[in-house]
Amino acid sequence: MGRSSKDKRDIYYRLAKEEGWRARSAFKLLQLDEEFGLFKGVKRAVDLCAAPGSWSQVLSRKLRGKEEKSEEVKIVAVDLQAMAPLPGVTQIQGDITKISTALEIIRHFEGQPADLVVCDGAPDVTGLHDVDEYIQAQLLLAALNITTHVLKPGGTFVAKIFRGKDVTLLYSQLKIFFSSVTCAKPRSSRNSSIEAFVMCQNYSPPVGYVPNMSNPLLDHSYDVDFNQLEGPNRIIVPFLACGDLSAFDSDQTYPLQLDASKEYKYTPPTQPPIRPPYQQACQLRKNNLLAKEDSPSLPLDEALSNMDI
Ligand code: SAM
Repeated sequence: MGRSSKDKRDIYYRLAKEEGWRARSAFKLLQLDEEFGLFKGVKRAVDLCAAPGSWSQVLSRKLRGKEEKSEEVKIVAVDLQAMAPLPGVTQIQGDITKISTALEIIRHFEGQPADLVVCDGAPDVTGLHDVDEYIQAQLLLAALNITTHVLKPGGTFVAKIFRGKDVTLLYSQLKIFFSSVTCAKPRSSRNSSIEAFVMCQNYSPPVGYVPNMSNPLLDHSYDVDFNQLEGPNRIIVPFLACGDLSAFDSDQTYPLQLDASKEYKYTPPTQPPIRPPYQQACQLRKNNLLAKEDSPSLPLDEALSNMDI
């Protein structure tokens, strides 16, 4: 395959090189800005999961623009991996799930909150779709969590999302914190990918919510039997980590004796089906006449005539 064949197949790959972007994903943020006007009035921005740095490049070029504006703008880029320096971008090599990273961002902004947080984070893809979707969702929730520590009320959060089967739970989790949550798919994001971006506008956390980095799934000090969190956090923190935990989980098996004070007693269905299509098979099985894999079956007429109905 010639060197130019990827340039032919992927216009954004080619343009990224021609325009000096470190990755083709720069166009995703540029196109999101064209649609939503993301950068208007932004002075402090955070790029979560930033390496190799094409989104930070976009922030640097768009927010700092002319020389005279560059002094007032602060941009922080966070990633587990180191990345090559960029003008006007401070790098934190750290993990977005750690409170120490949130504190470092705040320190860089001298205690002022950010106007915009973007996150293009992605785990290493395994190819097992359910696993990839789950890990991506956890990374998005971690990004949301750290965002609640650093974003100003009214601010904007933009993040990559995989539109898998549990995506509505993620929307509900995001809607706790933002009055507007929109899903967008820029032209530069391939149609074959389940990737999209959530545009969360007007950060307005519930009254009394205290930003909290703990995740009941990971935090061993969290007591599942006695929720020790207070105020709105009692409901919001477990909901963010695991969805709605307020009732029985329909996928779990429970012991028959749910309540120690009451003995289990079988209750028949309230209204059994009147004449279900499987009735004949049930009768055959009751009379031990249902064909088994290793025994020759009787013809149906003979079986029915032998039956004690
Ligand atoms: N937006 C970047 C750009 O335009 O160049 C590309 C981001 S790349 C798709 C995803 C990044 O997420 C990787 O560099 C990875 O190291 C980072 N990442 C994944 N988990 C992370 C975590 N827990 N904390 C910080 N960065 C993380």
